[in-house]
Amino acid sequence: MSRPQQITVLGATGSIGLSTLDVIARHPERYQVFALSGFTRLSELLALCVRHTPKFAVVPEAGAARTLQDDLRAAGLSTRVLAGEEGLCQVASDPEVDAVMAAIVGAAGLRPTLAAVDAGKKILLANKEALVMSGTLFMQAVRKSGSVLLPIDSEHNAIFQCMPQDFARGLGAVGVRRILLTASGGPFRQTPMAELAHVSPEQACAHPNWSMGRKISVDSASMMNKGLELIEACWLFDAKPSQVEVVIHPQSVIHSLVDYIDGSVLAQLGNPDMRTPIANALAWPERIDSGVAPLDLFAIARLDFQAPDEDRFPCLRLARQAAEAGNSAPAMLNAANEVAVAAFLDRRIRFPQIASIIEEVLSLEPVVAVDDLEAVFTADAKARVLAEQWLSRHGR
Ligand code: NDP
Ligand code: MG
Repeated sequence: MSRPQQITVLGATGSIGLSTLDVIARHPERYQVFALSGFTRLSELLALCVRHTPKFAVVPEAGAARTLQDDLRAAGLSTRVLAGEEGLCQVASDPEVDAVMAAIVGAAGLRPTLAAVDAGKKILLANKEALVMSGTLFMQAVRKSGSVLLPIDSEHNAIFQCMPQDFARGLGAVGVRRILLTASGGPFRQTPMAELAHVSPEQACAHPNWSMGRKISVDSASMMNKGLELIEACWLFDAKPSQVEVVIHPQSVIHSLVDYIDGSVLAQLGNPDMRTPIANALAWPERIDSGVAPLDLFAIARLDFQAPDEDRFPCLRLARQAAEAGNSAPAMLNAANEVAVAAFLDRRIRFPQIASIIEEVLSLEPVVAVDDLEAVFTADAKARVLAEQWLSRHGR
């Protein structure tokens, strides 16, 4: 039997990281953990190292690295601890690594994910912000290195499963009319509009169907998550924004659909548990057990659909506009959103002000071409400065 595949999990202490390790642990003959990274939850990272015995662990800085290294030695482990972005890039591109789970949240994941792409690794992409920020450059790098890019986002993994294998020839060429991107509508789908100004971070993070990290939970509540996913779908499947339609489907059982020109519509269904897309991407093109319970259609009984309301969810409109503008607009949208979501979680702004910040940032800064990574980070930095200026004028 061939050796187990060596897997690096970037963002191991997060929701996706932990689900990934759960799937990996079910298949020790197929997968071995090569490296794990954490950022603030370092005692959890230590426990994960004890459980999965990686070759490397990565933490944000040298002091934390020394502490973890001592703790690992005391636990009798030979795991080596690296620090910072450099450490992340090293474990993402190490020649021994077969696949990298990119599950750091936000722009912080871009460089390590690109390091894995440039090294030609199999990429399991959860970190949608990385692709949203740098779409053209990211996809160019994938083509150049021949890296296999597999979507972890449940919707994109569903679309991937419903697409013909040769979809890279272009949607028109393979008979695809539209991508139908499903959205639960989040916790505020039916909240009276006037109450949205008074919702708390806890309410925003209480997603009806999925258990996720705090940033993506707020994005789901504002539907910016669906906006980022629209941009993500355009890059992954070479679609125009007009070819991606958002469909509210509150049960989160259909994870997305592909509409073909002959009238066939293919969908992927399953319980809302990220271990399904993770197992799908890890084993692709094979299938493995994920630990997810079988779908009980009789218990679900009905599936509902409705059109999204962009007055309730202005972030969706802003993301569609950024998708259409292209160039630096998605990176600015993403960066302004990251600042706004952090401010909302810190109770510095009210929920509807997330959209106000993003709208202002996008209106103040002209869209420019982004020909290299430096230009992406410049756009990101400009948006962060403008968003902070908004906060110092209006925030608490
Ligand atoms: P979490 O907040 O649960 O986890 C984020 C991970 O990133 C943690 O390991 C965290 O470390 C680490 N991290 C945070 N900031 C930094 C930084 N500046 N540098 C390095 N590492 C950092 O998020 P999720 O797991 O929910 O989401 C991860 C990604 O996957 C996001 O891009 C999200 O959009 C995407 N995704 C998530 C889904 C889900 O169901 N959760 C579904 C689809 C996509 P620590 O915890 O130690 O601080
Ligand atoms: Mg998703």
